[in-house]
Amino acid sequence: MSDVNPCMSCGACCAYFRVSFYWAEADDAGGLVPAELTEAVTPFLRCMSGTRQKPCRCSALEGTPGEATRCTIYHQRPSPCREFMASGENGEANEACDRARAHYGLPPLYKDMPFHTPADAATEGLSRVQLR
Ligand code: SF4
Ligand code: SF4
Repeated sequence: MSDVNPCMSCGACCAYFRVSFYWAEADDAGGLVPAELTEAVTPFLRCMSGTRQKPCRCSALEGTPGEATRCTIYHQRPSPCREFMASGENGEANEACDRARAHYGLPPLYKDMPFHTPADAATEGLSRVQLR
């Protein structure tokens, strides 16, 4: 298995789901996320701009989903992005990751993981995917 970060050639989740979070994660309320890249959903909830419309695409995403992408605010990204796991990370499937990838014609990641079966679980520490 390649140790190349699969997210680098994907970015599908950044252009598929609404990315919403507690409003105070934005930098105008003491958080890190650039407020100018967010929009209000409710008085207590914001989302990354571009992610609650169709077609969906986060305003912080650079590149072409399914080919090559980069988060331009990687170190300031909101909690949903920090918590979202690529399918197969930690040896567990993430249906949402694989669904977003499928939308862009990409195969599911989990089936390719070398620790897919219990017998291979011991190799997880050696082969886990490097996330962005
Ligand atoms: S978490 Fe999954 S859907 Fe998101 S960029 Fe990585 S591989 Fe693609
Ligand atoms: S903030 Fe970055 S990681 Fe989060 S959806 Fe936007 S581009 Fe993706």
